[in-house]
Amino acid sequence: MHVVSMLSAIKDLLILQERDQKLLSIARDFEKIPKDEERAKGLLSGDQALVAQAIDSLRQCEVATKKIELDIATRHNTIARLKQQQFETRKNEEYTALGNEVIRYEKEIDALETQELEFMEQADGLRQKVKEAEAKLAHSQALVNEDLKDLSAKKEQLLLRRNELSQDRVSLAAAIDAEVLPLYERLMKTKNGTAVVQVTNGLCSGCHMKLVPTTLVKVMASQELTQCENCGRVLYPE
Ligand SMILES: [Zn+2]
Repeated sequence: MHVVSMLSAIKDLLILQERDQKLLSIARDFEKIPKDEERAKGLLSGDQALVAQAIDSLRQCEVATKKIELDIATRHNTIARLKQQQFETRKNEEYTALGNEVIRYEKEIDALETQELEFMEQADGLRQKVKEAEAKLAHSQALVNEDLKDLSAKKEQLLLRRNELSQDRVSLAAAIDAEVLPLYERLMKTKNGTAVVQVTNGLCSGCHMKLVPTTLVKVMASQELTQCENCGRVLYPE
């Protein structure tokens, strides 16, 4: 190959490499998005757990209140039955005993009603807690939705850019020598996205190893495609 055509072939490779590196960077950014989405959604789990906890405590309190109401109703029934028995009896002793029973149940009802009031107050507090937890969750949800929207926009942007570059790449790759292109593509895959590198101060700037004099001479002459004898990357002169 002539010097001019060799240098222009290198120039074409460098342009292609620049596009390919952009495509690789886009692919890396694209791969990160699902993780970012998961992380954003994960931020809600704490707030969701707090809402569930608050609702659970409120339910338990409500169940306890219902049980007290049932206990009170049972005692009212018992009192009614005892009063009926009192009404029907003719024995003074039994009458008094039944009256004492009624007083005992009435005292129990008083205590239960006090307890019920306490539970009802507790339920009010718990309802407030549920509201607060739900508000906090809604706030976080709004932030997360915003993040997810940004990520979705970013994804679209990356796809658009990728399509543009891919189209660009087709014509750029077509201009590369048919024998050089497979070598270039293999190097791009195996050498971490850098196939064509400059020689700087006698070193390969891909692997940073000192090049042997014959390689340096070949690169400077620019008559043929020269590869680093250590890493195999295509070299071009300073
Ligand atoms: Zn090298």
